[in-house]
Amino acid sequence: MKLAILTSGGDSAGMNAVVRAVVKAGILKGCETWVVREGYEGLVRGNTEAAPKSEPSKTSQNLPANYRNTNINLIQNLRFGDGDLLKDGTGDFIGGRTIKGRYIVRVGFDDVRGWFAEGGTLIGTARSKTFRTREGRLAAAYNLVKEGIDALVVCGGDGSLTGADVFRAEWPELITALHAEGRISKEQAEAHSHLKIVGLVGSIDNDMSMTDLTIGAPTALHRICEAIDNINSTAASHSRAFVLEVMGRHCGWLALLAGVSGGADFIFIPERPPPHDTWEDEMCACIHRHREIGKRKTLVIIAEGAIDSNLNPIHADYVKDVLTDRLGLDTRVTTLGHTQRGGRPVAYDRVLPTLQGVEAVEALLESTPDTPSYMIGVQENKIIRVPLMEAVAMTRAVATAIEAKDFDKAMSLRDPEFKE
Ligand code: ATP
Repeated sequence: MKLAILTSGGDSAGMNAVVRAVVKAGILKGCETWVVREGYEGLVRGNTEAAPKSEPSKTSQNLPANYRNTNINLIQNLRFGDGDLLKDGTGDFIGGRTIKGRYIVRVGFDDVRGWFAEGGTLIGTARSKTFRTREGRLAAAYNLVKEGIDALVVCGGDGSLTGADVFRAEWPELITALHAEGRISKEQAEAHSHLKIVGLVGSIDNDMSMTDLTIGAPTALHRICEAIDNINSTAASHSRAFVLEVMGRHCGWLALLAGVSGGADFIFIPERPPPHDTWEDEMCACIHRHREIGKRKTLVIIAEGAIDSNLNPIHADYVKDVLTDRLGLDTRVTTLGHTQRGGRPVAYDRVLPTLQGVEAVEALLESTPDTPSYMIGVQENKIIRVPLMEAVAMTRAVATAIEAKDFDKAMSLRDPEFKE
């Protein structure tokens, strides 16, 4: 099997560990391994330049051939930013840096050495408009067949996994079209009649259904906790209140768990909108009580997508004004923004992608035209496979339920055992 991996959508810590695990597990199980740079955009653009010749590194010279670095120069340049890093041939400059003319790159064992400890995604990610079109996916299919790749691992959010499913469903028709256009031979069409696809969820929001934890969420939570610890020093010294806005979109997981681990006084999450006409009283009464029993600092956490029961967004600046005006607290707003995404993955964002990466390769090796595309998840601490589209459909249903104000439905879709 020739397998390729790409990272797509928003970056998250642990994506590099996924790439490392998939490449290493793939090689150990006898596969040829490739990375696709810049997400689906790289698949669409493919390779317009021949692979440069590169010497195996000293450390890999004694290894079997496919354990060696095959692209050590390319990958090292990608990491350290010298040499071949040029503007892309088309004039676009996606993902910061690109290697001229090659988006689908063969990699060996050494190429991904130590990647578990690196933040973000070293192979780049992008949001590709072209891949949303049939023409784009036709080009992507051609580029994969050209390199002989028959299996794809996609690590991204629900959008990326939807794209993966669309691609696989359309694949037979794309192959027929490429053959009819004379771009691929009959032998190539026959050898590539089935595309094996598996998805891994890389997202800091932890908003995917049918899995307990997404890759990157533990690190984002850890970053928020560190920020709270820093804020607490000044809050306690000056007896201040802080209103902290955290990421998470429709999902309150980051806000809720940060609140629990950082000792917040009040937390706003999208799944439990407070009554629009009484939440200010409720919040002030709660914080007043805490102050009366001697707390010198106050922390209110607001999830990015927090709303009241009338679906009005709850803004940090408004909460700050309420605390200042009604309780007389010296209140500051801190929006953590992208610091939550960045930095080295915490231990669990190395362990989870490693276990899931190995499972992804096994799922690909067992894939047949009759098996569904799987998403690799984790439930009750066990690595599991679930049908990718079921997980995506469920995630969408949760978002729709929240938009429709049906919060109990949203919660029970996320957790079938949920009770009010
Ligand atoms: P995040 O959770 O960080 O937003 P995501 O994976 O949900 O990540 P999206 O921007 O929704 O991010 O999707 C990433 C890419 O996946 C898109 O730019 C597009 O190339 C591809 N994609 C998404 N939906 C589809 C679709 N329906 N058909 C084809 N491709 C799609």
